[in-house]
Amino acid sequence: HGDSVLSVPEESDIAEWVRRPGPADDKYTRGVAGIAAGSTRYPGAPLLAAAGAQAGPAGMIRFAGDQWRQVVSRHPSIVATPGIEEAGRVQAWLAGPGTGTGPRALKTLEHVLEAEVPTVLDADALTLVAKHSRLLAGRRAPLVLTPHDREYERLYGSPPEGDRASSALALASRLNAVVLLKGHRTIVADPDGSVYANPTGTPDLATAGSGDTLAGLLVSLLASGLGGGRAAAAAAYLHGLAGEFAARDGRPATAEDLGDALRDAVASVRTP
Ligand code: AMP
Ligand code: MG
Repeated sequence: HGDSVLSVPEESDIAEWVRRPGPADDKYTRGVAGIAAGSTRYPGAPLLAAAGAQAGPAGMIRFAGDQWRQVVSRHPSIVATPGIEEAGRVQAWLAGPGTGTGPRALKTLEHVLEAEVPTVLDADALTLVAKHSRLLAGRRAPLVLTPHDREYERLYGSPPEGDRASSALALASRLNAVVLLKGHRTIVADPDGSVYANPTGTPDLATAGSGDTLAGLLVSLLASGLGGGRAAAAAAYLHGLAGEFAARDGRPATAEDLGDALRDAVASVRTP
């Protein structure tokens, strides 16, 4: 595919990309991540996205959504509000997990996109941008899309087929966005031509809420200042490793296990 360069990230790359706080840092300089997620129909998604974000490098997480009370009771350090209008400034947004695709979800997504900060679109936000192409018209700030195969099909018009790296790159070029194409060997394609094939993971990650946790980790990495391609590659790597840890020795794993397992994954890539 054209001038694309395929690489497999190594543990040492991930260790380098996941920012560690320095003496001059405070919570704001580490990055503030924003999550707009959930609805009365899907109240769990925001909790799982929040757990993923809590394992990442950002210094603060803001949350906007109906489940703001539940989010704060599970994660007291998260600054939460019911509406996105009063959420405050963030360095990166995540929109989509469990929002549904109704008028309120659309309004929230419009607000997120207007902020023109690096943004992760997942789940219902992908369905909304597939339906309303105007949402991404004239977009300047970096975008990262995290489709599984059915979401890919909604966005591209046909399912990924053959070489998944080429499929991911084709969507990345068309929408000028980093595409993290989820699956057994997740592919990250950057419209600049970099493609990462993720070496970690396990089919145990095929479980409800798994993707919400990945998206949460990813927005924290973006908020920390990492570029979209590397942030997505690092999120896929750590999420895959967390799945391996959570499912070790045949242990049944659910997405609830991934928050803790992600911290173990970060620690393990940092251990020489
Ligand atoms: P979602 O469908 O949004 O919950 O995301 C599913 C997550 O599980 C993604 O990170 C996928 O890469 C991962 N996943 C799904 N199926 C498999 C599989 N068969 N092998 C490895 N990882 C998988
Ligand atoms: Mg999902």
